[in-house]
Parts: sequence; structure tokens; C-alpha cells
Amino acid sequence: MRVLLVEDHPPLADAVRDALHRAGFAVDHAGTAGDAREMSALVDHDLVLLDLGLPDADGLRLLPSLRKDGRVPVIVLTARDQLTDRLAGLDGGADDYVVKPVEMPELVARCRAVLRRPGDRSGTTLQLGPIALDTAARSASVGGAPVPLGRREVAVLEHLIRAAGRVAPRRALEEAVYGFDDEVGPNALEASVSRLRRALEAAECPLPIVTVRGVGWMLPREDAH
Ligand code: CA
Repeated sequence: MRVLLVEDHPPLADAVRDALHRAGFAVDHAGTAGDAREMSALVDHDLVLLDLGLPDADGLRLLPSLRKDGRVPVIVLTARDQLTDRLAGLDGGADDYVVKPVEMPELVARCRAVLRRPGDRSGTTLQLGPIALDTAARSASVGGAPVPLGRREVAVLEHLIRAAGRVAPRRALEEAVYGFDDEVGPNALEASVSRLRRALEAAECPLPIVTVRGVGWMLPREDAH
């Protein structure tokens, strides 16, 4: 899951980004409405967190374009005393709002709740054959036995399970796993896929991660195996 965080206050942006990273989200941070528009045009985010008071625009004016015709849920971040803004935000199409000062566990819970709503792309547990991935706890198991994985390996696995039976192109995986600000070496994705593959093999997972040269990777559907 990739989140666009639109927030101009650096300490808050850093804290939110850290909390979302720990929860397994990839995060793109925009400090201005202009940056937010650019990032939103480049990437299909799964969720937008939107501060209303931005240096170059009112966040509410930005909201419709970031929602992309309602396909992208938006959570508004707002100060406690801006009640009318909050109501206007919801009228303007926000899915939820979180009042500042932001409590990080609450924010993460709200993000998951919005992503779980009907029509979403998030579940709680994804299952593919013997592989289970708890998308909230960011933990995986094979045949019920826990498989220790890093944050990026979990993100790769989540994407491959969702795309099971189809090739997940390199670019789509990179978008799912890394934010713009992440420092990504040229072979970082290969390294994550390799670690994930070794971990699944060590857990005697019968489903192999198939490399499709020059294109990407895939997990077969269990019935095709
Ligand atoms: Ca602000």
C-alpha cells in the first residue's frame, strides 16, 4: 500500500512517515500542494493523507483532484479548532479526518479502516495456498509457521499474492514497495525478492517465486501449481 502524505510541517510529516513505514506502508511526502499534484499524477496511491493548511493552497481545493474521481480514499488532517473545516472537508469528499495533535496509533488504525471499506484493495489476511499474510500485523506464515520477513519483503509478498497468476512488473513492484524519498539502489528490488524467495524456500513453501526475465516476478496461483 502506498500513501501520499501532504503535510507542510516537517516534524509532523516525519513522525507520520515513520509511523506509516513501521506499519508497512510506502510513503510519498509532499510539503506543498504543487508537489502533491505532481506526485499524484505520477503514481496511483492507495490512500492520501491531506493537511488542510498548505503554504501554496487550501488543502480542500486540492482534495477533488487527489481523489481521482473517488477512486482514492482521502483522510484529512486538521487542527482541533477548525471544526467548520472538518465538516467542509467531509462534505468535500474526505473519507475520514484525524484531529491534530495526531496520535500515531489512531492514525494508522484510521488508515487501515479506510482501506478496508468496500471496494478497497486491502484485507486483513491474504491467503495463497499455504502462504498467509496478515496485512495489519505485517507478518507472514507458511503452513501456519511464521516466516520472518523485513518490511520490504512483506510489501513484495503482498503485491505478489494480490497479483497471483499474473506477472507483477518491476515498476509496479517498485511503486508498491518504495516511496519517492526512499533511497533505492539499482538492485534493491532484486535483493528484496531474493530474501523473500530464500525465506519461503526455508519454510518449504511449495509455491516458487518465478522470475520473468526483463519483466518482473510472479507467484503462481495455487490451483495452477
Ligand atoms: Ca499545515
